[in-house]
Amino acid sequence: MYLVSSCLCGNKCRYNGSAGDMAKYPKIRDFLAQGLAVPVCPEVLGGLPVPRLPAEITGGTGTCVLQGNAKVVNTAGDDVTENYLEGARKALEIALQAGCTKAILKERSPACGTGLIYDGRFQRNLIQGSGVLAALLRVHGFTVISDEDFAE
Ligand code: SF4
Repeated sequence: MYLVSSCLCGNKCRYNGSAGDMAKYPKIRDFLAQGLAVPVCPEVLGGLPVPRLPAEITGGTGTCVLQGNAKVVNTAGDDVTENYLEGARKALEIALQAGCTKAILKERSPACGTGLIYDGRFQRNLIQGSGVLAALLRVHGFTVISDEDFAE
């Protein structure tokens, strides 16, 4: 069973109110049709609205956020770290209850990014590191896979 970023499943939960391009992900479509995918949006689960201001991790990666050593901040300068932590905890709970052992998550997101995230300066600069949910899932032994490995 796969936990999957909700925006990859056609749900309009991205910060700008759009969904990901499902046509790029036929394997995810198959998982959904077979009942093998559980969609979650950790940002929405953390209480953030749609649409919302873009946010980035500043001062580190998702792992650093879990350790209390970095924050998630939006373009207005609001600290939304607690929303990201709460959303990740809720997504983990859903994943465990559904029996998921793997997750397919949207790259570059401060919540879902699996190996690349923006550096917190809102200048489209990427650094290596994962988002808050991806980091939490790895702590709990999940295999975390980038959407880019599923895109066709
Ligand atoms: S938090 Fe994850 S699921 Fe939600 S819109 Fe961002 S990338 Fe998609």
